[in-house]
Amino acid sequence: DQARTPDYLSGLNPEQREAVETTEGPVLVLAGAGTGKTRVLTTRIAHILATGRAFPSQILAVTFTNKAAREMKERIGMLVGGAVEGMPWLGTFHSIGVKILRRHAELVGLRSDFTILDTDDVIRLIKQLIQAEGLDDKRWPARQFAAMIDTWKNKGLDPAQIPEGDARAFANGKGRELYAAYQNRLKTLNACDFGDLLLHPIRMFRANPDVLRDYHQRFKYILVDEYQDTNTAQYMWLRLLAQRSAASRNSPSSGLSATFSPSNGEKDGAAGASPPLAPPAGRGSRGAGGEGPAPTVNICCVGDDDQSIYGWRGAEVDNILRFEKDFPGAKVIKLERNYRSTEHILGAAGHLIAHNEGRLGKTLFTDRTEPDDEKVIVHAAWDSEEEARAVGEEIERLQRGDADGKKHALNGMAILVRASFQMREFEDRFVTLGLNYRVVGGPRFYERLEIRDAMAYFRLVCQPADDLAFERIVNTPKRGLGDTTVRALHDYARARDIPMLAAAAEMVETDELKPKARKALFDVIQYFRRWSERLETTPHTELAEQILDESGYTDMWKNDKSAEAPGRLENLKELVRSMEAFESMRGFLEHVSLVMDTEQNEDMDAVSIMTLHSAKGLEFDTVFLPGWEEGLFPHQRALDEGGRSGLEEERRLAYVGITRAKRRCHIWFVSNRRIHGLWQSTMPSRFLDELPQSHVEVAEAETSYGGYGRGGYGQSRFDRADPFANSYSTPGWKRAQQNKSDATRDNWGTRSGHAVERIGYGESGPRGRTIEGE
Ligand code: ATP
Ligand code: MG
Repeated sequence: DQARTPDYLSGLNPEQREAVETTEGPVLVLAGAGTGKTRVLTTRIAHILATGRAFPSQILAVTFTNKAAREMKERIGMLVGGAVEGMPWLGTFHSIGVKILRRHAELVGLRSDFTILDTDDVIRLIKQLIQAEGLDDKRWPARQFAAMIDTWKNKGLDPAQIPEGDARAFANGKGRELYAAYQNRLKTLNACDFGDLLLHPIRMFRANPDVLRDYHQRFKYILVDEYQDTNTAQYMWLRLLAQRSAASRNSPSSGLSATFSPSNGEKDGAAGASPPLAPPAGRGSRGAGGEGPAPTVNICCVGDDDQSIYGWRGAEVDNILRFEKDFPGAKVIKLERNYRSTEHILGAAGHLIAHNEGRLGKTLFTDRTEPDDEKVIVHAAWDSEEEARAVGEEIERLQRGDADGKKHALNGMAILVRASFQMREFEDRFVTLGLNYRVVGGPRFYERLEIRDAMAYFRLVCQPADDLAFERIVNTPKRGLGDTTVRALHDYARARDIPMLAAAAEMVETDELKPKARKALFDVIQYFRRWSERLETTPHTELAEQILDESGYTDMWKNDKSAEAPGRLENLKELVRSMEAFESMRGFLEHVSLVMDTEQNEDMDAVSIMTLHSAKGLEFDTVFLPGWEEGLFPHQRALDEGGRSGLEEERRLAYVGITRAKRRCHIWFVSNRRIHGLWQSTMPSRFLDELPQSHVEVAEAETSYGGYGRGGYGQSRFDRADPFANSYSTPGWKRAQQNKSDATRDNWGTRSGHAVERIGYGESGPRGRTIEGE
């Protein structure tokens, strides 16, 4: 069968081909962005199938998103020509976890029809437990504990294993008890949370070596994409599946003494039932053919340490560094040819990421170079509104073909933001322009939980008959107006055919409600009365702020200790800010309903808007990177909390952003952002200083703003056009490290010696996690 190279292999370079054809034994592909890692995985699956090495059901492939899994399935179908009989186990860690858990639910004390709780369910449940303990749930917020549990589960820790300090830190030292009570409660409810989708299978495999053995027999080939972002629990899960124990291999000679040392905080389960984990045999003993378990572990992981961007969610980049130790005899393959981007884009990204320490270090080159390739272009804008307007103009220019005589599809363009609140300005602008867009990997701005809540308040003030809005916020924040009260109100309103708010006003005059509920409801009605009165007298943005403050809604998130809370508060501020462009609250509400009416369908030609975190693995002809300002990117919180490692993760995020671009990369920074209703001047991101002159150019001012105000945009056009004038002590690629002096910054057009006002921005990243393939 060596006679002819199959089509799917012929396009690969020698290293890629080696990674595809080395089907037996452990393989690690460690390579930079756009070098074809994902393509290698896909082709490898096709190759395994085409050469009859395994049935689809004997392949386990893990992708980072559901979307990536779908795309991979499609591509495999295309590569092997026609439909594949059966399908590989192809999906995210979570989706594969569910599949395994459904089959063996009873082994962890669940029934196979268990429910998967979403974040809200989890928080409600934890709150009940906190109250049941007689604890004050204001002092010990359920959300905070939910976040702690999530962190523990990412580390693979059962209640017995959590660090003493953690256990002490919550609920007067009852952290461990609460965690255990939570797990019990889940069991009673026949439910599990997201973390359990991995932890239950791990427990189950440890306690049932025979089941694990079945999976060892089943999965002949294991493949993992984006390996640099696996967390400890995922890593434990993988290792269990990938490392055949002596028993499972029927090989008496393998040394049990060489079991893997527990690492990453992993300890054997409390039950002590872990099967011994032995290293796989060396690579020499391959060729067992179809009979018996494979003598080596056929695991192939691909990743890039420079793209590890989920440290804040427990990802351990060390996993990639440990691969060779965990899988002795592993073949490590490096890919150096980039097939995605132009030389300018690669050059810019490479120079930037070189500022990180502790990298494995990789070479990247491309021959996708054409004479008229654009450099990476850095644009300055006065504020975020101008930024959105200018990006919109650039998109339309590309669409019309003004730039290079070619009309460009919107599908090839993406706006990648650091924090989700940045999306709002772009969404609004595109609606005005009639430009199709889609938000990828999360809700659109106006669909976010906190925005919907806030909007429900505004709607009810403007439109007291809006029962849906009433029901949404009557008990948000919690006021002791639970389901019973709402049902009573509902019935009362129905019977008289009046809106619920009116029904509430009548009911508080009766004694149909319990005194506590009656009092709470009375307060709510008073507030709405007052707000409605102010509708004509108070400026609407002021009123909006008053509504959110007086209702207790802002405080609800201020008291919330979860990782998402600061981002939600940012979004609320952005919401109020966005109302400034309208005459009245009603006008604004109308605008939003129009925005929300635009379809988001998969097939239409549309610009993608997403966070940098959700852009991982994707590619676009043109990428827009707005908001490169200190405090936003790098994000202030990452700087405050993470020290150098926080900054380095931000820099990796910037690297991910730039390397999504195939041909064009436009970076923006603004001189002013309006925060808390006050203009604050901002500093260009330090990452801009870290871009190499040779691959970057600064755009001429292209908007109507002639003057940028006193010192707001540098002293002269020359400075702007040549931002690198003073910042290099040696020219070209090898830029000497130097302090980022004010002089350096000046070249990017900011005022010198100006104090930076620190601004807390919202965290980005995928929030809602969904599972597919169940
Ligand atoms: P990332 O690190 O961003 O996930 P990656 O290493 O997974 O990148 P891919 O997405 O697999 O890279 O490949 C990048 C682009 O290069 C894709 O468009 C892919 O089709 C193309 N490509 C990869 N290998 C080849 C090849 N041998 N010939 C032509 N195109 C290739
Ligand atoms: Mg990839």
